[in-house]
Formats: sequence, C-alpha cells, structure tokens
Amino acid sequence: MSFEVKCTDLAARIGKLTTPHGSFETPSFIPVIHPTKQQISPNFLKSLGFNCIITNAYIAFKQSEERARKYGIHNIVNFDGPIMTDSGGYQVLEYGSVGVSPSTMAQFEIDIGSDIPIPLDKPTGYGLPYSVAKSYVNETISNIKETVEIIENNNNNKSNFLSSKGELWTGTIQGAEHFDLVTYSASILDKMGFQFFAIGSPVELMESYNFSILAELIKTAKLAIPNKPIHLFGAGHPLTIPLAVALGCDTFDSASYILYAKDNRYMYSHGTLKLDAMSYFPCCCPVCCYYTVNELLNEDWETRITNLAKHNLFVLKQEVSFVKQSIFDGRLWEYVLQKARSHPKLMDAIYTIKNFEYLQNNTPIFKQKAIYLFEPIDQHRPELINFRNMLINNYRSLYNDVLLLYPDRGIRPFYLSTAFKNLIDRYSLSLVCLYNPFFGLIPVEISDIYPASHNVFSKHSTGFEPKDCGEFIKLFNSFVKNNHFKTAYIIADPFMKKMLPALDFPEYMDLKIEDFIENTY
Ligand SMILES: [Zn+2]
Repeated sequence: MSFEVKCTDLAARIGKLTTPHGSFETPSFIPVIHPTKQQISPNFLKSLGFNCIITNAYIAFKQSEERARKYGIHNIVNFDGPIMTDSGGYQVLEYGSVGVSPSTMAQFEIDIGSDIPIPLDKPTGYGLPYSVAKSYVNETISNIKETVEIIENNNNNKSNFLSSKGELWTGTIQGAEHFDLVTYSASILDKMGFQFFAIGSPVELMESYNFSILAELIKTAKLAIPNKPIHLFGAGHPLTIPLAVALGCDTFDSASYILYAKDNRYMYSHGTLKLDAMSYFPCCCPVCCYYTVNELLNEDWETRITNLAKHNLFVLKQEVSFVKQSIFDGRLWEYVLQKARSHPKLMDAIYTIKNFEYLQNNTPIFKQKAIYLFEPIDQHRPELINFRNMLINNYRSLYNDVLLLYPDRGIRPFYLSTAFKNLIDRYSLSLVCLYNPFFGLIPVEISDIYPASHNVFSKHSTGFEPKDCGEFIKLFNSFVKNNHFKTAYIIADPFMKKMLPALDFPEYMDLKIEDFIENTY
C-alpha cells in the first residue's frame, strides 16, 4: 500500500504517500506550477517543504509535447520530487472542451512519467441541474474507463494495473452538490481499483464561501472511500485547509498563492487583505521582514508579485504545519473552532459537521493532552459523543436505588476530594455522578477514564441555557431511564436549576433537590 497512516484526529490523518519519485508527508498542500513559465521556482517550493507539486499535462501537451515526451515532466519543470499532473479537466470546466481524447492524455501522462496522473475528466462544477450533472458524471466515468484501457495496454501486471510502476492514478469523483451522484461516482471508481481519489468541482463552493455544502460533499466522498487517500481540488486558502483536513482530505492543490498575488491579495491566517489597504505586515517571513507595505507596493510588478506569492506560500506552509501539529496534539477540534471565528460561513459549516458521525471513527479513544471546552458547540466533539454513547449503551449502575448529582467543579480526581467523602458519609449506597454541561453525567467510579479526567472547561458554562444543551438533556433522560433509580438527590447549581424543567423524571422517582452552596461540602 502506498499510503501509511501515522496519527489521526477527527477524520484527519498524518500519513505518508509513496510515489516513484519518493514519498511525502500528508496532509500536504500541493502548489500548482505552470509547466514552462514559472514565476516561483520549484526549488523555492522544495525549500519551503512542499515536496510534491502539480502541473498541467494538457498545457505541456499543447505547448511542448515532443520535448515533454523526450525529457519527461520532471526535467521540463526542473523538480525531482513527486509530480501530480492535471490533464485538462480545469480547461474543460472553463471552455467546455479541450479537443483531446482521454486516451491521448492518458498515454501522454504515462510517457512523461507523471507520479500522480489524473485522467481527463468532465468536472460538474457547481449549480448544474441534476440531469446535466448526471450526464457529466457518466462522461467522466466513461473517460476514466478509456484511460484504464490505455493503462492496461501499457502494463503487464494486470492485477495491479493502476499502480504497476508505483504511480498513483487518481480517481476523480464528480457530482458536486448532487450527493447521490458523488456516492455513485466514488463507488464505481473504488470498484475499478483506484488507490487514490480526488474530489472534483469544489472551487466555486469555496469561492462563494459555501463551506457547509463543501463539508457535505467531502463527507459523502469519505463515506464511500473511508480509508484510501483523498485529494481536494483547488483548496489553497488558510480558512479552507483546516476544515478540509479535519473532514479527511489528505492532499489539496491550488494556484491561489500566485493568483492572489496578481490581484494584490495578501494571505494571513484568517483570510486575505488587499495590499494597498494595509499598513503593517502581520508576518515574520523573509519577505515581510525585508519590506514595509509601502516599499513592496512601490516595487515593479514582477518583483511585487513574486514576493507577494512567496509570502502567500509561507502562510500556506504555516497553515499546514499548524494543522499537522494540531492533529498530533489531538487539538484539531479546538483549532478548527478557532478558525471558524474568522468567518460566519465557516461557523455555519461547524454546525453542519457536528452531526457527522464518521468523525468519531478516527478520533483517538485516548489522548495525552486535556481537551478544552468553551461553548455549547463543544458538547458535539467526538470524544464527548463517544463518552455519552458509552454511558447510554454500556454502563449500568450497581447502585440503582439512589442517584446523587453534584456539580462538576473541575476537581480531579473528585473521589479523593473532601466533598466526595462528605457526600458519601451523608448519602451512603448511592451512585454519585458529577454533572457537567458538556459531558452530561460522569459517574464518579469511572471519572478517571478519558476524557472525563482530561478536560478543562470554562466556568461560564454554568450560564448555558437548556436550548444550548440538547446533548446534556438527551444523556440525562436516557441515563435515568436505563438505571431505574428510585430516588434522586440533586445538589443544584445555577446551571442545573435552569435544566430541571427540561429533564424527564420518571413518575416513580422520588426527587429531592437542594441548592448548591459553595464550600458547603
Ligand atoms: Zn510574510
């Protein structure tokens, strides 16, 4: 297998992709470069740690077919690492047709030695009526079948024809916002034996900040292809990268660094700024240390664009590194939430992904570092969903006569506290549970397990309203019902007092409520 996973969080993975020209770590931003006219040298890209680049085989075919066949794409672009080649799909999206057959492009990509070749597809773009999108999906599949025939003719190893020389042929998933077409397209390509996939047509979604639909699109592809590596076309914005990675995209390409530079747009970690509207550079890359804003504005066009593009690449490099460190630390949820504060549409996407069950599968069941809990949305993070599911499905109390509820004040471990000893003295033979707006309930006997023992939460969570705490209420009601308590003592803090009217207590249950007074227990 050419993909090795080292570390995961949410659906993100730190992995290693192997190609004929070496391996590179993922998640990885793959910069787009022009095959012949390069504003930024591939050596500079390599020096920043971009170990794989993408170029356009269709343009190479049109402009220097013979030279490319003779010397190979690595010599044409002067890059000795892995090269991915697009084959004109983007031009099809722009101009409708490219006048080259899929089989011609496939043979050309084989001849020039592409490491990650992409078949000539027919991108659906965004906003097409269903029937038209369906016909594009079918055309892409038929193009890919034509491509596969060419690959088979070139290879003797029929059983492993899609990567017989170690190259990773890309299965391009089309369908865009028509999610059943996305599932259909992904499943067919998976059955054909592809080991590497790419989600087509997201550029318009990202340009219009339609991150919720983008998230649904990625989810649909991931449910069809849960384990194999997936590429996202056209994702080169500091806001999109953390979301895409969190949802399970391993690589993504874009020419944004140079296109934005040509438009005088300066990337920073929360978005972009127009260079002529800036006074200061909030960055310490060599470009921003060397120039003031005015000095860069006064440079000639070529110098300005090159330096702005270099700065943009530094920002993209930093973004990917931050995302990777967050995966490693188990803090990707926190990082994605911080990013969501940069744009309301990104926050909308968070409310979409909170219901994505597949994010639980790759989130480790134990993490070294405490999780941080700030606001109601955090009750949906996978670690807490897993914990509540365990309480509902697997936990049954040994003491089912009396339930005692006490507010979680962040004392760890609670069972060694004076408060716990005093409670046990007063209410013996009862199940003591801490209540917490994010977790729901934490039986003290299992309060040592992750994440009940490894979290830090804001004390302002006692101000949450019942409408914000659906998960708390759901858990509470199931827990009480499953364990058949006859009596419940509730030591109620301001949070619990607000929740009480929203909770279901069985008729047979004797309910005794008293006010929580700090330092009483
Ligand atoms: Zn900079």
